Amino acid sequence: MRGLLLNKVDDEFSAEVTDIAEDDLPEADTLVAVEYSTINYKDGLAITDSSPIVRNWPMVPGVDFAGTVLSSESESFGVGDRVVLNGWDVGEKHWGGLAERARVNADWLTPIPEEFSTYQAAAIGTAGYTAMLCVLALEDHGVTPESGAVLVTGAAGGVGSVAVAILNRLGYEVIASSGRVEEEGDYLRSLGANELIHRDELSEGGGRPLAKARWAGAIDVAGSHTLANVLAATGPKGCVAACGLAQGMDLETSVAPLILRGVTLAGIDSVHETAERREQAWARLATDLDVNLLEEMTSEVGLETVPDVASLIVQGRVRGRIVVDVSA
Ligand code: NDP
Repeated sequence: MRGLLLNKVDDEFSAEVTDIAEDDLPEADTLVAVEYSTINYKDGLAITDSSPIVRNWPMVPGVDFAGTVLSSESESFGVGDRVVLNGWDVGEKHWGGLAERARVNADWLTPIPEEFSTYQAAAIGTAGYTAMLCVLALEDHGVTPESGAVLVTGAAGGVGSVAVAILNRLGYEVIASSGRVEEEGDYLRSLGANELIHRDELSEGGGRPLAKARWAGAIDVAGSHTLANVLAATGPKGCVAACGLAQGMDLETSVAPLILRGVTLAGIDSVHETAERREQAWARLATDLDVNLLEEMTSEVGLETVPDVASLIVQGRVRGRIVVDVSA
């Protein structure tokens, strides 16, 4: 089978597409024929060795994939079942999706809803499933379309694009924050953004603990000063679902929005989410994500191109979602 293999020997990092023996796959109960994997921000960091994502070497990267079960010792899945995997430290500690086969634990797999082709499930991928987890968090904390607008940061990226499309379909007024308002303005409007703001408005540190309320809820992929400023401008009883660190991992803020406006900061960890919540998120994606918009936000590449795209995603220059055809 072909796959992308990352290695580090004597501190020398390599990433190459190569033939891998199926016998070298890690031990687990289920063998999957991977059809598509994708490139998420975390994959970008791993494949460019920009951050210590990979914990064991050598490693097949790819935190997600969609494919078909070839064999399983588990009763949960049978041969031919279509499955998607998101997270569970795959592509970090356990070989991941950027190869033609993956051997993984059945517990990590989610059935692909019948509404989606395998390609569409991959296009959604970890970024899209995380966007849905963020929307569920807003709903859990009482943010409805009647509450007011919802802000999405990093709107032209993977999580952001899917979040904008879902929120619009659910009837929310969507404010999209992007560093690429000029280049991607039409794209963001086509996904359903009602208002665009430049991310520079939110990226500076040292802002006021409480600012004028501008949104009832937010989905934040940036962290750092952006998240602090987003919290400060969230209205009473609002909720901010925080899932990312595209600006930084730091968070210098105050409790003012929490204790003076009752704002909730909801953390999102898609990697270790329960099977029940995963199935709920995928079921909601099947009803709340317009597949035509999914297509519009998705590009496809082959394995050989992955290292180049990985470098682009780390620079914040990828639009929407990138699907990898692992056989191409
Ligand atoms: P993408 O690279 O596709 O999207 C990130 C977007 O963030 C960029 O496209 C850009 O959008 C914006 N951005 C880039 N740099 C900055 C910056 N300095 N300040 C503010 N915004 C910036 O990545 P993904 O959508 O795959 O992931 C987004 C984030 O969410 C990542 O940090 C990732 O690690 C995290 N994540 C977390 C998960 C979890 O379980 N918690 C799961 C999945 C992702 P624009 O040009 O529009 O501003």
